[in-house]
Amino acid sequence: MDQQLQQEGYFGEFGGSFVPPELQEVLSYLSEQFYKFSEDPDFKEELRYYLREYVGRENPLTYAERLTQAWGGPKIYLKREDLNHTGAHKINNAIGQILLAKRMGAKRIIAETGAGQHGVATATACAMFNMECIIYMGAEDTRRQALNVFRMELLGATVVPVHKGQGRLKDAVDEALDDLVRNYQNTFYLLGSAVGPHPFPTMVKHFQAIISEESKLQIMEKEGRLPDAVVACTGGGSNAIGAFAHYIDEPTVRLIGVEPDQAPSLTEGVPSIIHGFKCLVLLDEEGQPKKTYSIAAGLDYPGIGPEHSHLKVTGRAEYATVTNEEVLAAFQELSRTEGIIPALESAHAVAHAKKVASMMDQDQIMIINLSGRGDKDVEQVYQMLK
Ligand SMILES: *Cc1c(COP(=O)(O)O)cnc(C)c1O
Repeated sequence: MDQQLQQEGYFGEFGGSFVPPELQEVLSYLSEQFYKFSEDPDFKEELRYYLREYVGRENPLTYAERLTQAWGGPKIYLKREDLNHTGAHKINNAIGQILLAKRMGAKRIIAETGAGQHGVATATACAMFNMECIIYMGAEDTRRQALNVFRMELLGATVVPVHKGQGRLKDAVDEALDDLVRNYQNTFYLLGSAVGPHPFPTMVKHFQAIISEESKLQIMEKEGRLPDAVVACTGGGSNAIGAFAHYIDEPTVRLIGVEPDQAPSLTEGVPSIIHGFKCLVLLDEEGQPKKTYSIAAGLDYPGIGPEHSHLKVTGRAEYATVTNEEVLAAFQELSRTEGIIPALESAHAVAHAKKVASMMDQDQIMIINLSGRGDKDVEQVYQMLK
């Protein structure tokens, strides 16, 4: 155990890589290449270039004046991942991994997607870099997310419906991993959140850390000091780990993750292995990963990234849940007070931020990470409010 704890890819007892030997070989090579290129000045320069010219970074850290007044507590700043090309933070990671794939000589990109948001980000980046793009999606999910399937196809991707098992995300993950093992010589598996076996959680954090790299410089410029709290929603945990990354070693900054009360992996999960890594997982009576449901498709995952699991058990970060009603109220409040319609995922962060803010002082500062914009959710909210 002690030896395991010190291994690469572990965050305390969490993380690691629990996969068959043939897949482990592929992942070890990936890990080696990632560490090599992530420090390479040419690679860094190329990444900066595309983040600036294609994604539209840096995005603003907007002072939310009216929300601040309405809540009556700390100064609220919004980190605007909603303003990125494709409307969310996922593109940061998709561009980073595609550039790595290119350096590794891959010609084919594969990915799996549940609700389709990661599939769309991947298909977007593949179109721009002229890479073949295969997206595995549970057959059930392709029916429920027909419009996202069409988006991916518009972008030139091939969407493969997976009928095996229950035709859900887990089955799509299995298909994608099978494909990778068969085709690793020319294929790169682009994973969408800070989950999965090593090196994915480390790699995804690396590419999403741009969020807090920017917000830290921006808040220092605007306020001359660090924020007192940073709040982000957690599905697999990628926008949150990116929003936290540059503050983890700043003990005065509270780090707060927010999950749906119907998928509370961090609040109620127990240490277990899921999808090839160890993290806090919601289990049912039979010890199987629980079927979760969230109104925000991007937060619907029974596990959570290994680093969040570690930040939770060590107490460095706090995690809370919010209800659908609170999320819907926050969705509307931000729209009305700031003219920003947030993604339903991001509205989870806004909903909990409001509660935290009510216990903070006016001379304090809070950053809320707006992981994405809400255009994709407007029709759903319309149906729910009707
Ligand atoms: C996918 C998604 C999330 C959840 O994923 P994380 O990996 O936890 O960030 C949150 N917000 C938006 C807008 C998303 O698209």
